[in-house]
Amino acid sequence: MANLKDSIECIEKIKQDIRDLRDADYVKCPNHSNDKYPCICENFDLVNDKLDELSKDLNEIRDDLLHPAMQNINI
Ligand SMILES: [Zn+2]
Repeated sequence: MANLKDSIECIEKIKQDIRDLRDADYVKCPNHSNDKYPCICENFDLVNDKLDELSKDLNEIRDDLLHPAMQNINI
């Protein structure tokens, strides 16, 4: 059965994949050779920021579920 810890780890792997895509040789950021063109690296970083938010939310949910006061509640 899937659990929150696995989901959080999965998000971290996706974030690394996105960083790898951003830095891949076949993704040429036009800004890096000529600064009159926009930098597309930020587009990748914006996706990672959203994943960061999701990861943070899941960590908070996990902390809440692990709180002793929650142990006797059936959900
Ligand atoms: Zn760039």
